[in-house]
Amino acid sequence: MPELPEVEIRARHLQPLLLGKTIRRVRVCRAKVLKPTSLREFQSVLTGAKFTGLSRRGKYLLFEFRSKISGKPVTLLGHLGMTGRMFVAKKTDPLPKHAAVIFNLGRQNFIYEDTRYFGRLTLDVSAVEKLGPEPLGNEFTPEVFAGKLKRSRQAIKIKLLDQSLVAGVGNIYASEALFRARLSPKLAANRLTFGETKNLWHAIREVLAEAIDGGSTVPLNFAGGKSDGLYYFGRAPGTPDYYEERLRVYDRAGMPCVNCRHPIKRIVQAARSTFYCSHCQNS
Ligand SMILES: [Zn+2]
Repeated sequence: MPELPEVEIRARHLQPLLLGKTIRRVRVCRAKVLKPTSLREFQSVLTGAKFTGLSRRGKYLLFEFRSKISGKPVTLLGHLGMTGRMFVAKKTDPLPKHAAVIFNLGRQNFIYEDTRYFGRLTLDVSAVEKLGPEPLGNEFTPEVFAGKLKRSRQAIKIKLLDQSLVAGVGNIYASEALFRARLSPKLAANRLTFGETKNLWHAIREVLAEAIDGGSTVPLNFAGGKSDGLYYFGRAPGTPDYYEERLRVYDRAGMPCVNCRHPIKRIVQAARSTFYCSHCQNS
């Protein structure tokens, strides 16, 4: 599942491909992904609209348009869910089997495809209002972070997945950050000292910034072209996969810890896998 770095990479790749383009036609194959926006509203607002910007907030993509009818700015919220992909392809390319929404941009299509339809492409942007601070932004300080952790008895790994605490951290980077901060994933959030909180704050920013720098750490399973904006879920054939070597604990159960050689453990917390080193992360 894409987390902050993967969505950020996606936004950076898509922006130059979409900027200034006008939506000629809107085709929706799965109206479910528009919810709660109706098909009629989606089509009437976006047909003829011009892309003016693209940004990321947490794990959401925010597409900005200027409406053809009103001339006013419109925001479209995108979420990739578990298996979603958003990319630009030639109009003549065959559409993927699970295409949910297709915006025709003239000679190209901007396609949202999702095999499981857990993602979203909607005019309802209320989801971003509930998000906590951006982990790489100025509002996310050790003091703000500590204040929120003090109010929770949840295990720190589970708490890190709470998008109102900090936006964009998911299962992979929660395990990675705790490993770097040498904190047990089972530690109650309110038991962290300020020093530990500061280390974790730093580790979160470090793992996310490194992942953005490196491109992506999610396995790439789509052979994309050279300029279609596909980066994660879109590695071109024959290009290297840095996924495994860049993650230090995630998905490494039984493999030796990179610090101490003890085998990495896998446990389940809130129905999600957590990977950690019981020797290095024993606080
Ligand atoms: Zn270790």
